[in-house]
Amino acid sequence: MLFQRKSTNSAAARRSRGALFAAVALTATFGASIPCAHAVVTDPSIARRNERAAYLLHLMDQQRYAEAAQGVQQLFIDYPTDAGSYEIRGVLQLHVGAISQAQRDFEYARATAAQSDPIPAYGLALCAIFTRDYDTASSMLSNADTVAQPTQRDDITIAKAMLAAANDSPVDAVRLASTVDSVTAREIVALAAYASSSSAGLPLVEKFVADGAVSDVPRVIEEAGLRYVGPGSKSNTVLEPSLTESVLQAMFAQRLAYQNAPLALGNDSVVMATIALSPPANTITSTGQSDLVVTISVDDHLLGMVNNAPFEMSWDTRSVSNGTHVVKFEISDTHGAILQTNYKKYKVANAGADLERTTNPFPPDIETALWNMMKIHPAYKAAEYTLAEAYLDRKDKVRSVTHLLITAALDSEYRNAGAAVQQIFSANAASKESYKLANASFSEPLKTPMVTINEMWQGSAKVREVALTFDDGPSPILTPPLLDNLKKAGVPGTFFVVGMRAALVPEILHRMRDEGHEVENHTYTHPNLDQAIPTHIVEEYLRNGVVIRSLTGRWPKFLRPPGGNSNPQVMEIARKCGMIGGFWTIDALHAEDSGSAKQVTDYVLSKARPGAIILMHNGAEATTNAIPTLVAGLKAKGFKCVTLSQLAKDSAINLP
Ligand SMILES: [Zn+2]
Repeated sequence: MLFQRKSTNSAAARRSRGALFAAVALTATFGASIPCAHAVVTDPSIARRNERAAYLLHLMDQQRYAEAAQGVQQLFIDYPTDAGSYEIRGVLQLHVGAISQAQRDFEYARATAAQSDPIPAYGLALCAIFTRDYDTASSMLSNADTVAQPTQRDDITIAKAMLAAANDSPVDAVRLASTVDSVTAREIVALAAYASSSSAGLPLVEKFVADGAVSDVPRVIEEAGLRYVGPGSKSNTVLEPSLTESVLQAMFAQRLAYQNAPLALGNDSVVMATIALSPPANTITSTGQSDLVVTISVDDHLLGMVNNAPFEMSWDTRSVSNGTHVVKFEISDTHGAILQTNYKKYKVANAGADLERTTNPFPPDIETALWNMMKIHPAYKAAEYTLAEAYLDRKDKVRSVTHLLITAALDSEYRNAGAAVQQIFSANAASKESYKLANASFSEPLKTPMVTINEMWQGSAKVREVALTFDDGPSPILTPPLLDNLKKAGVPGTFFVVGMRAALVPEILHRMRDEGHEVENHTYTHPNLDQAIPTHIVEEYLRNGVVIRSLTGRWPKFLRPPGGNSNPQVMEIARKCGMIGGFWTIDALHAEDSGSAKQVTDYVLSKARPGAIILMHNGAEATTNAIPTLVAGLKAKGFKCVTLSQLAKDSAINLP
């Protein structure tokens, strides 16, 4: 029954005959996609479905959630009743933190997927842990356990351990997680042990964090994927929310708000067999001018249209699975303009309903990929934050701040760590300033007053100094020869390093430190900061700052935005992270691109002037080869090569 005509007697119905025909035509267009109530889907294109499912999982694995969302939409158009479509969308919803939608998808999948498929129950268990519905989580995990493959058992045990930890049973959590060998299990053991006894558990948390370090560098990026408990947290639990990065969630939640009815609307009414559907009370029933058409859909599948008050239509609830369903009422005028959209939620409970399994299971490789998307990953930020708190309790401020910095580098919005770090930097600046003021009254005034600026483009023209600065390194191949030449020339350089590269070659950063060079911040991944949102900017600064500090012992004083792409916000955040903009007076890039050492030397010498900051690149061979003649030429002109912070100091520029 696609169209229901209530009455043809009224004048309204006669007037709207044209609209009725239009509506019938419209219904016919959609007819093909309406699920057939009792037919088993024997789709000849299952191979094609599998291919598409595999590609969608690939997109999700790459965190290309917006593209994946689009693909999932398409999958639903072609396979609307396939449990596989629901499983994939459920996993995608989990990844972007849309827990209630994920729950709905897994519920549907559970009613229709093969009995031997553990994914829907496991997905529902994760949703339940995330919403702190621990009883449901427990029963769903047992459920998944009974049908799980041997290779899936460890993941279920980890989920059980996480459930225990979240449910204030740290002893059970430790017992369960101890039986599994994985990073996530080790984290649960460490954090749960800490929760039951902070002094006994502290060494375990320290060890967990140390094991995750990349060579000498603390871990400053989280593992991608699904991890830990969702929104709403108890202060006494050590397992903390975070599915994907909160930034990603914010970016994609909006795009993923596809056609999902607001589930919070109204109460469930339990319904059985055939019922009459009628729009909610607040539905417009007349505009006074034009007739109305009400389009009724169940779970986004069109049921039919009706054009007479009270706009009722019968619905055979045995055509859907038992469980919650959302009915949408779309009210349009006779021109097809939508005037209002309303929803009602129904809980279908048909006695003895034996839903037909309409799905071909995925092949094992896709099942595995789907399962892996639901694995729980460790959240290093939770461990780091725990250490920050633990050391604060023990009055060890230095170590506390170190771990707070790393927490903020991992996720600047986590427990407001990023804001706390920025506060610490500004508090230090303030105390330094007041210290200076306090001293000023007792001592001779400075001959040149210190200047506070946000961006440094040059030093004082009164000092016969220049700073050689090198961007974009370090490289295990290209940096050592440059360091060799600087060493032979006996001058220090200032290296604006990219954090993700620096973390890979700690020995080069150690060498820079040992040979008197300065290491400054050129961000962690070299993005265009002018296009970045504040959270990303903070994380780019802090991640690289943590790397630099752990390898050189010094927090950077300068931030050079990649490509020079800056704006007031980029600079303001730099200052809040303890740095000022380190720009340049002379840009040698074009000369470097020529590939000729002579051109680099000639160009820089022709432009050199007192206080100049010279921008070159770590990686340009011409530059490395130019160092001997360039430094000799600068010396001959009476210039001393100094680090950037030395130039700032000699120029009476105040650094954070
Ligand atoms: Zn650069």
